[in-house]
Amino acid sequence: MRDLPIPQAASRLADFLTRYPRLTVLTGAGVSTDSGIPDYRDASGAWKCAPPMQHQQFMNSHASRQRYWARALVGFRTLHRARPGIAHTVLAQLEAEGLVAGVITQNVDGLHQKAGSRRVIDLHGRAEQVRCMQCGALRMRHDLHTELAERNPHWLDREAAVRPDGDASLEADFSAFQVPGCRRCGQGIWKPDVVFFGDNVPGERVARATAMVDEAGALLVVGSSLMVYSGYRFARQAFRASKPIACLNLGHTRADALYSLKVEAPVGDTLGALAAALTGTGKAAG
Ligand SMILES: [Zn+2]
Repeated sequence: MRDLPIPQAASRLADFLTRYPRLTVLTGAGVSTDSGIPDYRDASGAWKCAPPMQHQQFMNSHASRQRYWARALVGFRTLHRARPGIAHTVLAQLEAEGLVAGVITQNVDGLHQKAGSRRVIDLHGRAEQVRCMQCGALRMRHDLHTELAERNPHWLDREAAVRPDGDASLEADFSAFQVPGCRRCGQGIWKPDVVFFGDNVPGERVARATAMVDEAGALLVVGSSLMVYSGYRFARQAFRASKPIACLNLGHTRADALYSLKVEAPVGDTLGALAAALTGTGKAAG
């Protein structure tokens, strides 16, 4: 259903939720755009800007890490300040009402949890912490950023458009940017505790997400093009298990052929109308 008016879009989704309660929800960048965090892809599923950092590039190149952390020092402020939007709030509410069994998110912003969702699997990790790739030490990201700012004070004045993972669209000479290593082991590389493109989701996390899809009566995809296999695989899993799949997303997704219901409408406004529709019919308490 393309460009459906919001009331109709919400009504179709409300029917789906009523038929298949105990949904597992799979979310992507489209649930966080209302919170000021942009998404990576346009309606056709193509990159909106240069593709993000690749895992091997980050691990193998000091220059890449200088560039990454210099840009993050500017861009992460937006991510850190972001507050849950209506999509996060409605999904948390639906979980509290027993209609949603859990959320698997490809986002690293932690906004589902901030909105009150309890069963959340952060498939690609959380941007708010960093991990030493040598000894495994974990550290809060703002703590590393404080150290980065102390060592590179002139970078703090910069402003640039933020990108989805706290990166910023900033071009400069990064060669003088100082990137500290892990003090515990003396040499380890700090990396955001997120799965970069080109890396794999940890097996234990995939297993938990697979189980969450397994136990659900149906799957609802919200705000994701599912272009990355790590999310797409759960649509495939649900399809193979003959579980109905609904999708609310503006634009093309990789799993378009697998849905029983595809609704192309704005994510936040439609979920807001969905919550109102469910409340209005007494199917769920507001
Ligand atoms: Zn270390």
